[in-house]
Amino acid sequence: VKTYTCSACGAGIQLSGAVPYGVCSFCQSLLLRRDLLLENIGRVAEVPDDFSPLQLGTTGYFENQQFALVGRVRKRWDEGSWNEWCVLFDDQRIGWLAEVQGDWVMLFEQSRDTLRTIPVADRADAINVDDTFWISNKRFSVSDIKRVHYNAAEGELTGFQFCREGVLSIDLRGEKLGFATLEFQENDVAVFVGRFIEFDECRFVGLRELEGWG
Ligand SMILES: [Zn+2]
Repeated sequence: VKTYTCSACGAGIQLSGAVPYGVCSFCQSLLLRRDLLLENIGRVAEVPDDFSPLQLGTTGYFENQQFALVGRVRKRWDEGSWNEWCVLFDDQRIGWLAEVQGDWVMLFEQSRDTLRTIPVADRADAINVDDTFWISNKRFSVSDIKRVHYNAAEGELTGFQFCREGVLSIDLRGEKLGFATLEFQENDVAVFVGRFIEFDECRFVGLRELEGWG
């Protein structure tokens, strides 16, 4: 962890350096790390208090690999919003821990080449529930399609989409506990693959203390 200076407000900001972006906790500027300097990309909203049991700094395990929560993006759609936590593993691997309608998934970004048929963005709107996608050698079917806005963020991130019209987000279910998300924006698609997890399987440490819990 290194201390940087926020280029917008001058506050000290600590970054692990494992991911390119950080949010200043004083002025909410999204900052892109360039060597020792931080470039101010724009301002993000503050994450509203949503009584999540997780918080920045919470640690846990996924398949016996230890990780820490280093950032959070709050995503919003027409009927609600949810958290996606940027997860930094001890071996520097990055994952995303997301809440999906009361369940939890751990996802890892894949090269778009893993998507065997790459739908172009102007065809993304033609994707329907139950359509089949092959990602690497795994079969997935579309379970949910929605337009999503990146709403707020904190901590360290791999990226943030300011796009006013939002991104088209498609959730897919695979065999057993398999889960994937495709995020379409302009002419690109980001591919995330992983699985459902049990909250307790992560053996979290440093959970937020919520009144009325425990
Ligand atoms: Zn700042």
